[in-house]
Amino acid sequence: MVSRTTADYEAIALAGCEALCEPAFWAGYDRASAQGFYDYYRQLTEYEPRRAAKFGIPHYCWLCINPKEAEDAVFAREVMAIIPDFLDKPNVLGIGEIGLNKNTRSELAIFEEHVEIAKKFNLPILIHTPHLEDKLKGTRLIIDALKNANVDPNKVIIDHVEEHTAGLVLDAGFWAGMTLYPESKCTPARAVDMLETFGMERIWMNSACDWGVSDPLAVAKCMQEMKKRRHSREIIEKVSFHNPVAFLSQSPNFKVPGAT
Ligand SMILES: [Zn+2]
Repeated sequence: MVSRTTADYEAIALAGCEALCEPAFWAGYDRASAQGFYDYYRQLTEYEPRRAAKFGIPHYCWLCINPKEAEDAVFAREVMAIIPDFLDKPNVLGIGEIGLNKNTRSELAIFEEHVEIAKKFNLPILIHTPHLEDKLKGTRLIIDALKNANVDPNKVIIDHVEEHTAGLVLDAGFWAGMTLYPESKCTPARAVDMLETFGMERIWMNSACDWGVSDPLAVAKCMQEMKKRRHSREIIEKVSFHNPVAFLSQSPNFKVPGAT
């Protein structure tokens, strides 16, 4: 949401959004210092929740240094050292989105160190998988690393799955996330095809919101697509609400929307 306007908050509120989760990611530019990340974490944990609250939406976030900026391991470790200072902020869900971008050894080392932070603080993990031709290899590397680290797969969501990686992720016991884009990558129609292929357990979808062409209403549009295909109300609510709630409830800071 740091890249979006208040008009987007208004639109998702009107579409019935009950809560939103913002992963720590690239800010549109490479940060020049660890201090840049310190300020970014303040934005995610202090300012952005206040902006969301004006539209009645609870705002949650994930913290990490994203793989795109983690190629320099010394710099990445400097940033990771700051993360524990923010883990007790009330809107922090866990560690993410960590993962691989170009599948380099340095990225993998930093990925594993992030996993150790999550284990130490007993927090769920959100994982980014690389795009295009690197996706399958990257997903396999990630799954192997998680198995080696003995992480409970139920506490991990592996995001940006596609047709050729969803089965791999689900069969290994992890949660799978489908990231929706209006044109490129996963469109709402393609996401519903995947749901129909892989089933409705341990799977969710999210709207990509970044500096490129992306649509905060993509999840709402996917729900419409499910309705058009005559999926039941129960199934639509399961995938768009109850599944995310089940996963996120593993984070001590998450409050079930509507619960008192
Ligand atoms: Zn990502």
